[in-house]
Amino acid sequence: MNSESFSVGERLISGAYLRQGAQARRAHEQLIRVFIEQGKCPEDGWDESTIELFLNELAILDSNNFLGNCGVGEREGRVASGLVARRHYRLIHGIGRSGDIAAIQPKAAGSSLLNKLTNSMMLDILKVSGVRSVTSCFVVPLATGMSLTLCFLTLRHERPKAKYIIWPRIDQKSCFKSMLTAGFEPVVIENVLEGDELRTDVKAVEAKILELGVENILCVHSTTSCFAPRVPDRIEELAVLCSKYSIPHIVNNAYGVQSSKCMHLIQQGSRLGRIDAFVQSLDKNFMVPVGGAIVAGFNDSFIEAISKMYPGRASASPSLDVLITLLSLGASGYKQLLKERKEMYGYLLIELRNLAEVYKERLLDTPHNPISLGMSLKNLEEQSGAAVTQLGSMLFTRQVSGARVVPRVSVQTVSGYTFTGFMSHSNHYPCSYLNAASAIGMKKLDVDLFIKRLDKCLRALKKQKNSGVNVSESENANCTTKLHMGELSERLQDVLPAETSEVLPSIETV
Ligand SMILES: *Cc1c(COP(=O)(O)O)cnc(C)c1O
Repeated sequence: MNSESFSVGERLISGAYLRQGAQARRAHEQLIRVFIEQGKCPEDGWDESTIELFLNELAILDSNNFLGNCGVGEREGRVASGLVARRHYRLIHGIGRSGDIAAIQPKAAGSSLLNKLTNSMMLDILKVSGVRSVTSCFVVPLATGMSLTLCFLTLRHERPKAKYIIWPRIDQKSCFKSMLTAGFEPVVIENVLEGDELRTDVKAVEAKILELGVENILCVHSTTSCFAPRVPDRIEELAVLCSKYSIPHIVNNAYGVQSSKCMHLIQQGSRLGRIDAFVQSLDKNFMVPVGGAIVAGFNDSFIEAISKMYPGRASASPSLDVLITLLSLGASGYKQLLKERKEMYGYLLIELRNLAEVYKERLLDTPHNPISLGMSLKNLEEQSGAAVTQLGSMLFTRQVSGARVVPRVSVQTVSGYTFTGFMSHSNHYPCSYLNAASAIGMKKLDVDLFIKRLDKCLRALKKQKNSGVNVSESENANCTTKLHMGELSERLQDVLPAETSEVLPSIETV
């Protein structure tokens, strides 16, 4: 309601009450005005009513919601289902304009404003999280792998002769595929073992640059966040190399925003050397549904070039989700989540170390990895290789998700490339192990339950060793009472990533 509405309203109810109501409304509006003016994440989170007021006001600015609109084009923001319209707060036009995801959409002032504000708020959050000198970023409705592809495709125009991407090995399929999809040949640089940690072989990277020739290399593609015992790449040294040889440097920072250490590496890399862009997942860092990423960097024109690579218009959903999320958390709420995550890492570390000792295993010593931890499964492996894979399936049936059991020798082919020791980031890591991560939003209860269930599984496997009775068979027998076995197996095929389904032979063969 505007002031005229309030004046006429005084005919119906007392002006004093209305004036108080109008004042209350102004408090919401004031928050919205400050946000539009500053383009920064408000320190304190907003009430849901303020957020909804804001979103409704934005939607009313889009042509599909104009009362007198008469659309005769092929894309007029018509949506058949009211449920779908409400799911999107009636923001139907998406973002961008043919040929540039950052461009203003004339039919949709509200969606365009939403897009600009989300990007500007995101830039603020990246700075707050540790990359203080980042100058430019945009949210793209593609997950991390495809966003990396977009970066590589943008570089292609600058480096028409380049065929290769130098990639310190990380056993994660989407980042590997991001290079293949862009049409480049990944040149895998094996990691070096330092203590328990797998670290970047910077010398091998330099030797490869010299061997292949600078102009034949599209870029160096490095990684921060990763599963232990791999640790974040030596970003600073790689950045210095890239600067020395004038080779672009793209950093995969998939779930690194939540770690001040990963963000610090990027900040330092850009200060001392060269980082052209760094890419992070929206869902992994901001607790929103899967589907978006942030492409960020230190050179506005390069980041703009990437946004211009995106053909056509794009979904506004990831931007809308993260806008709502950050407005409700506020910068203080987000910082609190980061703080809790760090504390939970310390707690998980202690609990996992204690449990490891009970079973004569040990926590892998990977101090450079700020998120993921590894616990050796050396004893279990000596018991039998099958016991290691069995542990994987036991954890799965106990509804522990995200814990990866990594057997020592596993060969896997990804898009025609064969990796020895796949999942372990190395051809021959010395032992099998189990991973667990302290990611944003994790609670103490999650750690406690995980440790309890892992303890149960390890105890059962120990008993099996002593008695010779296969525990997973009796365990699977339990499952059949709840679910027909064939159906279970079929469902597992659907829900499991390829690497996990491999560790479930005992279930499939029942
Ligand atoms: C999650 C992740 C990716 C890719 O993720 P998508 O968002 O699924 O494309 C790439 N690299 C690493 C290290 C990851 O953790």
